[in-house]
Amino acid sequence: MKKLLIVLFSALPLLAADTPDLTMQTRIRQEGFRDSKVMELASGLMDFVGPRLTGSPNMKRANEWTRDKLTELGLSNAHLEQWGPFGRGWSYQSCSVRLVAPDVAQLWALPRAWTPGTNGPVRGTPVKIKIEKVEDIDKYKGKLAGKIVLDGDARDLKAKEKSDFSRYNEQSLTDLSHYELPGRPRFTREEILKRRDFRKALIKFYAEEKPLALIQPGNTNFGTFVVQGAGTQKDGEQFPVPSVVLSAEHYNRLARLLDQKKPVEVEVDVKATYHDDDKNAYNTVAEIPGSDKKGEVVMLGGHLDSWHGGTGATDNGAGTVVAMEAVRILKAIGIAPKRTIRIALWSGEEEGLLGSRAYVAQHFATRPEPTDADEKDLPISMRKQKGPLTIKPEHAKLAGYFNLDNGTGKIRGVYLQENAAARPIFESWIEPLKDLGVTTLTMRNTGGTDHLSFDDAGLPGFQFIQDEIEYEPLTHHTNYDVYERLQRDDLEQAAVVMATFVWEAANRPEMLPRKPLSKEDAPPPAAAAPPH
Ligand SMILES: [Zn+2]
Repeated sequence: MKKLLIVLFSALPLLAADTPDLTMQTRIRQEGFRDSKVMELASGLMDFVGPRLTGSPNMKRANEWTRDKLTELGLSNAHLEQWGPFGRGWSYQSCSVRLVAPDVAQLWALPRAWTPGTNGPVRGTPVKIKIEKVEDIDKYKGKLAGKIVLDGDARDLKAKEKSDFSRYNEQSLTDLSHYELPGRPRFTREEILKRRDFRKALIKFYAEEKPLALIQPGNTNFGTFVVQGAGTQKDGEQFPVPSVVLSAEHYNRLARLLDQKKPVEVEVDVKATYHDDDKNAYNTVAEIPGSDKKGEVVMLGGHLDSWHGGTGATDNGAGTVVAMEAVRILKAIGIAPKRTIRIALWSGEEEGLLGSRAYVAQHFATRPEPTDADEKDLPISMRKQKGPLTIKPEHAKLAGYFNLDNGTGKIRGVYLQENAAARPIFESWIEPLKDLGVTTLTMRNTGGTDHLSFDDAGLPGFQFIQDEIEYEPLTHHTNYDVYERLQRDDLEQAAVVMATFVWEAANRPEMLPRKPLSKEDAPPPAAAAPPH
């Protein structure tokens, strides 16, 4: 009896584990490390196409470029899938901010998305304000018309004792592998709604006040700064005033001169365009057709869209070209997977995972739209009423989705997203990948990117654990998110790992296990089987 139990228990993990395809893992490494094209793809996307704000003409070029490139790499059925409406497109053509008195100097600035241009160059003595909450607005009413406005005080820029570069080490990977009990969310529902109300109040205030331009300080130093949007792409939610982010060092010079009551004059000249010809957006999708299980699909991808300050290299050109390189590797070695492998490059991620959410709704499952206005403005995870899901036939056919969107860093493991049944499977796949630094599986959830759209619909969607490199605060959404910040060795490793995962998932006997649907998500009881 005792012996039988031991045999049973020791057999249990083996039952759930996989035998990795070591011949294929070798071929994937040979192609991925000896004949990588990942940096060529990166130059094509970052240098030739450039930044990819959803709704902009460049986003459309990126969709077309990736579609054509995937066709060239031998994929089938490369096409664009429309979703929408997304809203207004926006792009800028030029941006100049100059100090014209007491000295003359070109200042480093970029416009925030969805803000208008100036009507030619505008000049004036700036006014410095400090509005941090709704209650601060009143004291500036009637004082800003026709002015150039500096938004906030000079920032203290201390020398850093530590570099911004980081990789996981054994200790930090061990820490990450420990499950963290779900605690308080970073922001409460009330805090998010309060911030929304503040944003709306600001837009209303600036629309009435009509300053010439608004200048905000950059968030970091050495001329590097985050530049995103003001207002949104939605009809009627555009920011009413030309608004730029200025490098912190240049902003501080203006702020100091104003504080000292020196005669300062600044010139702002921004040309920007709204695009209203097509309010929809597009995801790029292509396939390697499967063989005997071709009705089932393994997906991989990341978001193709970016902000506009740099060329969107680490966020998320990196994930895009790694996913493209992964399917290139699989095509180049002439494989025939059992399941169909489908790459999807999303748009609208930066505005709230919109492209992947739309794809999941079109193909897999939908949720009722909230009727309450507050609920609509909250991220889905914070809504009080989410379910139930309405499941579509393709839902039963998705074996899994693998996403890459945490910068240029190599892959160190996988967030299991609380799917315990996936652990023994991935454990067996990563055993032969440990010498590449892929060692860690964590039950933790990770957020902020497109695997959530799948996870939210009860599908097995995963994001890889990646080394940070220089992501925060240097490249993520900054003006220096460009080709140079991409790390060739890391990207080659990530493409080999992604190709391996996709290959294993496409060929194992069963699809990947799923988490049980929550009570709220499950279809109504009438549709479920009667109790025994
Ligand atoms: Zn991203």
